[in-house]
Amino acid sequence: MLETSKELFERAKQSIPGGVNSPARAFNSVGGSPVFMEKAEGSILTDVDGKEYIDYVGSWGPMILGHAYEPVIEAVQETAAKSTSFGAPTELEVKMAELVKRMVPGVDKIRMVNSGTEACMSAIRVARGYTGRDKVIKFQGNYHGHGDSFLINAGSGALTLGTPSSPGVTEGTANDTLTADYNDLNSVKQLLNEFEDEVAAIIVEPVAGNMGCIPPQKGFLSGLRELCNGHDVVLIFDEVMTGFRVAQGGAQQRYGVTADLVTYGKIIGAGLPVGAFGGKEEIMQVVSPDGPVYQAGTLSGNPLAMIAGYTLLSELHENPVHYDELEEKTTYLYTGLSEVFTDYDVPVHLNRVGSMLGFFFTEEEVVNFETANTTDQELFKAFFHAMLKNGIYLPPSPFESLFLANSLTKEMLDQTLDAAGASIEQALNK
Ligand code: PMP
Repeated sequence: MLETSKELFERAKQSIPGGVNSPARAFNSVGGSPVFMEKAEGSILTDVDGKEYIDYVGSWGPMILGHAYEPVIEAVQETAAKSTSFGAPTELEVKMAELVKRMVPGVDKIRMVNSGTEACMSAIRVARGYTGRDKVIKFQGNYHGHGDSFLINAGSGALTLGTPSSPGVTEGTANDTLTADYNDLNSVKQLLNEFEDEVAAIIVEPVAGNMGCIPPQKGFLSGLRELCNGHDVVLIFDEVMTGFRVAQGGAQQRYGVTADLVTYGKIIGAGLPVGAFGGKEEIMQVVSPDGPVYQAGTLSGNPLAMIAGYTLLSELHENPVHYDELEEKTTYLYTGLSEVFTDYDVPVHLNRVGSMLGFFFTEEEVVNFETANTTDQELFKAFFHAMLKNGIYLPPSPFESLFLANSLTKEMLDQTLDAAGASIEQALNK
C-alpha cells in the first residue's frame, strides 16, 4: 500500500524541505508517509497508487462543490486560452469585486491578493496605517497565515509541529502581538486596558478552524464588536475558512456581527491561489494607490484565479440551496459519528458549524486552545491511519477541521460511518 507515495516522499525530501510545500501536508502529527495524489473528481480522491478515498479535506476548504467542478474547469480552460496574465486591469476583476460585495455584508471595497497569508498581513498593515497604532491582539490557537505578526501562539501546522511561535520573527514584532484566549472576552478586556490607545486591531477566526473546529460562544463575537467600538480598534474577521462556507456571507452573516475588515482565501479562488481583504470605505481608502498604505501584487487579480473564483461564487450565490444541503449532510455525519464513538465508549466532543466539523477525543467541552489540547492525540493517530486504510481521507492532524463538499452523497456518508466504526475498533485494539 502507498508504495509510489512512499517512493515519491523519499525523493521529495531530497529537494523540498520536509518533502512538502506546506507543512500541514507532511503527516508530522500522525506519522507515516503523506499520500501523493494523482487526480480527484467530486468527493473522490485517487492517489498515485490508484487507491481511492472519500475526501474530507477538500484542499483545506476551497472544494465546497467538489473537485474538478466542471463549470470551473471549463471557465479556466477558456480563459487560459486568452493569456494567463496581463499585468493590467481586466473586467473580470471588477465583476469579482462586485460579486463579493453582493454576497457579504460590510464590504465597500475589496483588494485581491494571492493567498490567505497575504490577505491577513495586508489587513493588519491597513489597520496599523489607519489607526497609527502598532499592537495587534490575536487568539491562542488561531492561525492567520505565516506573516511574522501571526506566528505567536499560532494554530494549524504551527500547532501540529509544536512550534506555535517561530524562530525568525523579531522580538519587536513578537512584542507587538498580544495573545488573548478564544471565547474569553475578559482576556481581551485586560489587554485593551493594559495597552490603552496602543492596539490597532483585533484579528479573530470567527469560527476557529485551526485548532480543530471551535464555534464562537454566544456573545463572543458581538462582545468583540463592542470592545472594538469602545476602544477605537479595528475588528478583523479572518474568514479564510468561514468565508462563503458557513453561509453565503460567511460568519458575518451567520452570527449577525459585522467586522471592519474581512480577509478571505480558499473558496474565493476555487482552488487557485487567491486571497482578498476588504471592508469599510473609510478604512480601505488608506490602501495604495488611494492612500499611503502600500500593498501590491504582480499576479493579484490573475485572470485564471478570478474566473475560477467567480464561477464558483456565482453558483453559490445563485443556488443557495447548496448551503441547506451542506448543513443536512454535515449534521448527518455529525450525528452518525457521535453514535459510532458512543457505541465504542470513546469519550468524544464534536463541534459543527455549517459544513465545518471537528471531533476531539476528550470528556471536556472544547471551547478554546487549552480544552482542544485535552484530545487524545495517540487515539487520533491510530484512528486517522485506520480511516486512511479504509478509504477515508481526513485532515492529518487532530487540530484541523473537516471541510465537507456538496458532492458527497448519502452513500459516501454511510460508507464513511461504516469505516469509522471499523476504524475506531482497530484503533482501540492497537
Ligand atoms: N487564515 C486562516 C483562518 C487559515 O485557515 C489560513 C490557512 N489555512 C490562512 C489564514 C492562511 O492562508 P494561506 O494558507 O492561503 O496563506
